[in-house]
Amino acid sequence: MSEDSETREIDSLVTSLRRHLERRQRAGIRILPNEMPNKQRTMPAIGGQEKAPQRTAGDLFSEPSPALGAKTLEELRAGIGDCRLCKLCSGRTNLVFGVGNPHARLMFVGEGPGRDEDLQGEPFVGRAGQLLNDIITKGMGLKREDVYIANVVKCRPPDNRNPEPDEVAACEPFLKKQIDLVKPEIIVGLGKFAVQALLQSKAPITKVRGQWHRYHGIKLMPTFHPAYLLRNPADKKLVWEDIKKVIKELRGENG
Ligand code: SF4
Repeated sequence: MSEDSETREIDSLVTSLRRHLERRQRAGIRILPNEMPNKQRTMPAIGGQEKAPQRTAGDLFSEPSPALGAKTLEELRAGIGDCRLCKLCSGRTNLVFGVGNPHARLMFVGEGPGRDEDLQGEPFVGRAGQLLNDIITKGMGLKREDVYIANVVKCRPPDNRNPEPDEVAACEPFLKKQIDLVKPEIIVGLGKFAVQALLQSKAPITKVRGQWHRYHGIKLMPTFHPAYLLRNPADKKLVWEDIKKVIKELRGENG
């Protein structure tokens, strides 16, 4: 390569780099990509379209945040605000935080809001929610207000698809904080995604359901999601077996 063409190539690279840095500066990004690998990385909106920032929830909790310091569920909800940590923010009608007794002994954790939940802003209010209500009231003899109900992701995945790993990772700390604040004695994990998120495991729900596990010292009973039971009613008897174990535990009858 001649000296002239080398010079032109270097000039071209410098120009591209300068433009790239100017774009980042205009977007308010002051760090280089690998400068702080565990810290915040943001992504500017492109073409005016809403774009989920490339922050992770881990980042959220590694920096001062209203959510991090929450002492109550209300403070946590306020800290989450109009969250844009993952791409699910762009399709939601309502962020579905959680509902129930803030000091519940029993907490149910599902996967994410569906259409009805998204519209109403409350978890488990559709057909699957009615089934969960039946489990709580008819099966356990409790009231819905006695327990606390939340999901792993707080915003509805489009077309009720499964939450993607980055979405679960982004939202999971909110659930952890909810659990930390409610301090339930028992968690019932509803379905594969909730259970895998809580157990940090890829084990299939069919392998782990019906047995006691631990989530940070809290007893965790994995069972099928009510939406699954609507499609597979024959498995209701398995869920009932799991729920009976939870009832015994709540009554202190498990030894
Ligand atoms: S799903 Fe969770 S992390 Fe994603 S935008 Fe909603 S509240 Fe934020």
